[in-house]
Amino acid sequence: MDKEGKEKRGRGSGEPRHPMPEQDPRARTGNFDEVALGYREEDAVAEASRCLQCRKKPCVAGCPVEIDIPTFIASIEKGDFLGAAAKLKEKNNLPAICGRVCPQETQCEAECTLGKKGEPVAIGRLERFAADFEAAQGNVPVPPVLPPTGKRVAVIGSGPAGLTCAGDLARMGHQVTIFEALNAPGGVLTYGIPEFRLPKSIVEREVEYIRSLGVEILLDQVIGCTTTLQELLDSGYHAAFIGIGAGLPMFMDIPGENSPAPTS
Ligand SMILES: Cc1cc2nc3c(=O)[nH]c(=O)nc-3n(C[C@H](O)[C@H](O)[C@H](O)COP(=O)(O)OP(=O)(O)OC[C@H]3O[C@@H](n4cnc5c(N)ncnc54)[C@H](O)[C@@H]3O)c2cc1C
Ligand code: SF4
Repeated sequence: MDKEGKEKRGRGSGEPRHPMPEQDPRARTGNFDEVALGYREEDAVAEASRCLQCRKKPCVAGCPVEIDIPTFIASIEKGDFLGAAAKLKEKNNLPAICGRVCPQETQCEAECTLGKKGEPVAIGRLERFAADFEAAQGNVPVPPVLPPTGKRVAVIGSGPAGLTCAGDLARMGHQVTIFEALNAPGGVLTYGIPEFRLPKSIVEREVEYIRSLGVEILLDQVIGCTTTLQELLDSGYHAAFIGIGAGLPMFMDIPGENSPAPTS
């Protein structure tokens, strides 16, 4: 494609985002496998080439963990897919999970300049692509971990909050142990979000990455029952992070709270 053609059909042209390949609906009816199949390399490069590389980076302001979105997208456009994955992991310990289930449409993509007149850059799909590409190479590099601080931290709960906190603290050089009540890590990622949307193998892969940073994960540990928080702190932990989710509903105990929703 000549330069002029690229300008017309690519960057800033109002071209819609590149669709993500999906399972054929007839095949989907017979399995619980992931529906979205992820970008191929050519899809990812084409989608990345839509990014305007805005100087003010509004998309970054929409990202809760402040990923340098234009830079990771520029790496994909250049074909440096591992560079893109490394850039993502500077800020996000769980990119393959977030690339699949983060509500990008109300976060980074909601702020994307292209979204003002057309469709925003498919930032989530590109994040997923880079993370999956790196994993497919079979040798996920462990980023630099700062020298040991001598501080021990107990992280209670291994959902996305606990895993993220543990990964960040480990990279700062702290010694981190996650205490998880259930017999598998991941929280709602493991037992709530269905396989066709977030495969368990992806969660297991990113939990392994957290372990590779030096985080220990102890299962079947109901803090408050098997051990109390105070006992943990008395046993040498310098701090604790409580990330136990919202597993139980709170009822107001008022008349009618169990009534069926009104139909119009
Ligand atoms: C069906 C479903 C689908 C969802 N889909 C999406 C989606 O597509 N996108 C999205 O962004 N969000 C989605 N969410 C919301 C998302 O899953 C939650 O916001 C997220 O999991 C919260 O993370 P967390 O780490 O705070 O808690 P959780 O994921 O709930 O993890 C808490 C962990 O703490 C453990 N724990 C609890 N008590 C103790 C204790 N006393 N001692 C030790 N461990 C303990 C639990 O066993 C659990 O593993 C969905 C939620 C549900 C229920
Ligand atoms: S706002 Fe959109 S177009 Fe601009 S740098 Fe971010 S992703 Fe690219």
